[in-house]
Amino acid sequence: MHFTGTVYRNPYWPTWPLLEVTQGCTHNRCKFCTMYKGLQFRPSPMEWIEEDLRELAQSDPDATTIQLLSANPLVLTYDKLRAILRMINRYLPKMEHIYVAGRVTDLKNKTVEQLRDLRDLGMREISLGVESGDDWTLDRIHKGYHAADVLEQCHKLEDAGIDYWMTFLGGVAGTEHSRDHAINSARVFSQCKPMLVGTGALTLFPGTPLLEEAQRGEFDPLSERGMLEELKLFVEHLDVDCIFVTHHTVAASLTGPNFLDRKERIVAALDRAIQHGDHDRFAALRRSKRTL
Ligand code: SF4
Repeated sequence: MHFTGTVYRNPYWPTWPLLEVTQGCTHNRCKFCTMYKGLQFRPSPMEWIEEDLRELAQSDPDATTIQLLSANPLVLTYDKLRAILRMINRYLPKMEHIYVAGRVTDLKNKTVEQLRDLRDLGMREISLGVESGDDWTLDRIHKGYHAADVLEQCHKLEDAGIDYWMTFLGGVAGTEHSRDHAINSARVFSQCKPMLVGTGALTLFPGTPLLEEAQRGEFDPLSERGMLEELKLFVEHLDVDCIFVTHHTVAASLTGPNFLDRKERIVAALDRAIQHGDHDRFAALRRSKRTL
């Protein structure tokens, strides 16, 4: 199999076979991310993809699910994606569910009809690393799009019948803009119909512009308590039924479906963690992280 650079396996679908169809990230400018630094984006040659599919057809001929790599294969043109999906179906005829990560901007060059066609070829689930619905914050972290783009592209996915995830990244607005980041993100997410909302929190990794800005005093990061308060604000304003996932230690047990039914419990758990949580331990856990 061909694997280049960082391999990000969706932690919730860990046993799915992986197929690299692109390498690196087209954007590579988000100020908190080093995942594909130093790696030039390029589509994988079709011969590589076919070789890997031949291998998968030997090792896992009954596979019904697959994850496409790497950061944003969705950026490929409709024609290219279509050819890849058709090839997957040819080698793995029981394929039902193709999962792919992407950037909001990757959807711009595809019509709803084209997305519907890709869905019919198996592309059932897309994970969008949205991070924020607040324009100031999106500009601050160099995400490369605005809230209006998020709404427009997510509505296209809904029209095409493709399930999608939206992620919220706490802490990226620093202390300066934390409140607007939480509330405006929740408002934008609530105007969409994601199957899943995932929440993470900023870790300042070596090599990231955001860490350098913090060291120069140009970015004031949130404390662990501040990050929990921001998450609580986001949850309080989030009004969409979905699977809710949080990677935060305090609320990991509150990950699950039917968000709206469980919202009050999640807020209460976050409140307890804000008041009584071991924030030093949360900080130590964060320091031990090596990558996003
Ligand atoms: S966060 Fe995603 S889009 Fe941004 S640079 Fe990293 S891989 Fe690329």
